[in-house]
Amino acid sequence: MTVDVEDYFHVSVFDGVIPRRRWDDLESRVSANTERLLEIFADYEVRATFFVLGWVADRFPQLVGRIAALGHEVASHGYGHRLIYDQTPRAFREDVRRAKDLLESASGAPVLGYRAPSYSITPRSLWALDVLIEEGYRYDASIFPIRHDRYGISVSPRHPYLIHRRAGVLVEAPGSTTAVGPMNLPVAGGGYFRILPYAWTRWGSGRVNRREHRPAIFYLHPWEIDPDQPKLPAGVLGRFRHYRNLRLTERRLRRLLGDFRFGPMTTVLNHEPQPTRAAQPSFALPYLW
Ligand SMILES: [Zn+2]
Repeated sequence: MTVDVEDYFHVSVFDGVIPRRRWDDLESRVSANTERLLEIFADYEVRATFFVLGWVADRFPQLVGRIAALGHEVASHGYGHRLIYDQTPRAFREDVRRAKDLLESASGAPVLGYRAPSYSITPRSLWALDVLIEEGYRYDASIFPIRHDRYGISVSPRHPYLIHRRAGVLVEAPGSTTAVGPMNLPVAGGGYFRILPYAWTRWGSGRVNRREHRPAIFYLHPWEIDPDQPKLPAGVLGRFRHYRNLRLTERRLRRLLGDFRFGPMTTVLNHEPQPTRAAQPSFALPYLW
């Protein structure tokens, strides 16, 4: 179970609509929404991984402390929520270093994991993996093995695996998909959880568990359980992706927490029989290995 801890106005849908300098003027709802998620998880005795934005940790360090004190894992969503392929390697390094420092001092624990804004590690930003290794991250959860307009490497492995880079080794923990014919379809989180019927998530995640004997990696955001968040302007597709079914999400999440067992990322990865490099099938990924 993973949560990307950011405010409703950080979402990439609003890039270009809400200038960054206005972020501090908008009503922040991330603390209250994250506290609500912590209560829901407590009801089901679920511990999760929270990929917290450094911007949030900077303003609400006590929230990060609470997440850690309740036994959850604190990981990094970077500092400023810029898409990786829009940054220079140097700016990206500063971003992930700043986030890691803030999160470690607020949580009192080492930060091992990273997830990019909008899964923005793609064939043109693989250099980011070297930076993450050099900055002390041990796993990444940013490469979605699907086709999408903003992200994804559709031929990358669907389950956790090791990536060997010039700088060293990193565990990659991709968002979960189910293979239907030649397509990998996302089954566990975000808009796919809100927009499609709940039965899709239950079927797809169950299929990953039963047929492949692997864990599914689920993700959501605190703003997804907040139907009363201020409405911001965006294009038709953006509005659909962001606002659809917000009112249903908490109920769905409770069903999900009742239907499956969950744990934080480090626990799940440590219990995986893989990842190993040898376990990977013959994907042609010249740019990865
Ligand atoms: Zn995000």
